[in-house]
Amino acid sequence: MKPWEANFRNVTPYVPGEQPKQTGVIKLNTNENPYGPSPAVKKALEDFDTERLRLYPDPASQVLVDALAKRYGLGTDQVFVGVGSDDVLAMSFLTFFNSGKPILFPDISYSFYSVWAELYRIPYERPALDETFRIRKEDYYKENGGVIFPNPNAPTSLALGLAEVEDIVAHNQKSVVIVDEAYIDFGGESALGLLSRYENLLVVQTFSKSRSMAGLRIGYAMGAPALIRALNDVKYSFNSYTMNQTSLVLGTAALEDEAYFRETVGKIRATRERAKERLSDLGFVCPEPSANFIFAGRPGTDAKALFDALREKNIYVRHFDGPRIGDYLRITIGTDEQMERLFEFLENYL
Ligand code: PMP
Repeated sequence: MKPWEANFRNVTPYVPGEQPKQTGVIKLNTNENPYGPSPAVKKALEDFDTERLRLYPDPASQVLVDALAKRYGLGTDQVFVGVGSDDVLAMSFLTFFNSGKPILFPDISYSFYSVWAELYRIPYERPALDETFRIRKEDYYKENGGVIFPNPNAPTSLALGLAEVEDIVAHNQKSVVIVDEAYIDFGGESALGLLSRYENLLVVQTFSKSRSMAGLRIGYAMGAPALIRALNDVKYSFNSYTMNQTSLVLGTAALEDEAYFRETVGKIRATRERAKERLSDLGFVCPEPSANFIFAGRPGTDAKALFDALREKNIYVRHFDGPRIGDYLRITIGTDEQMERLFEFLENYL
């Protein structure tokens, strides 16, 4: 080992889902949207004046912040944007979780949370989900340095009711509670309505799933002005220009096409409900899905072997090793045709 290597920051990184290089893949492994972004986004890209790229983007991302504030009925001082919700969440860990007390998030949850906690050396505890994969709200009533959970949860797709979310926020008025709503447009009830009553609540959402723009990287947080100010202070201490010119323009265009958003989200929800029935007919069990994916396992069927067999046939889903979750596959909802190909395979395989 070189002497300076002792000074490296040792981290075990988050492992993103595979992005296969070959064509003809049925890609149901990273919760992307099977439909393209709104035609309004295509138009905005065609109209984009590349001369603008000469200039730095607006560090305050004001057009996008204003459009989001209008869409959600909030003040422009209540919105923060970043490079995907991963960036917004990483920034939030850095900004809000500095008490030295353990932060709390579920044992089965978005696996990036523990990576950020390790990176920033934030102590953490992971209360176990109950035997039906539900978050037990009482586990979050103890002393802590902050709380974060996805709603709907990932990879289970299970939503926590708004009353329970509120109970968790209400019991934690000494710390910041972050509700990661990456998948909320597909089901469950947003905590946004609680913002007027809780100054310790931060709601984080993304353009990657319901707005079909994972490739552009846009995420946002909504909360009390004091939280947004604190996030901006940290952002400006890290990198002033997180949002590029095209993201600002195309993100704003996407928000203007509410009809397309509703139509595509509606289609995915309908496909999900049909997929749930088909999986159940094939003997799979799953927690009630509320996101754009289903977490399905089949008693007596080895999930890892099934994952490998699917991959062999160019059907990509996600399998996570680990106690309890190792028996399940996380299947992103694709188009009806893609799901049909999956079911044809499963019928033969089983
Ligand atoms: N939160 C959860 C629960 C997720 O599953 C994801 C997607 N990997 C993200 C946040 C981050 O999504 P993005 O950075 O694309 O907004």
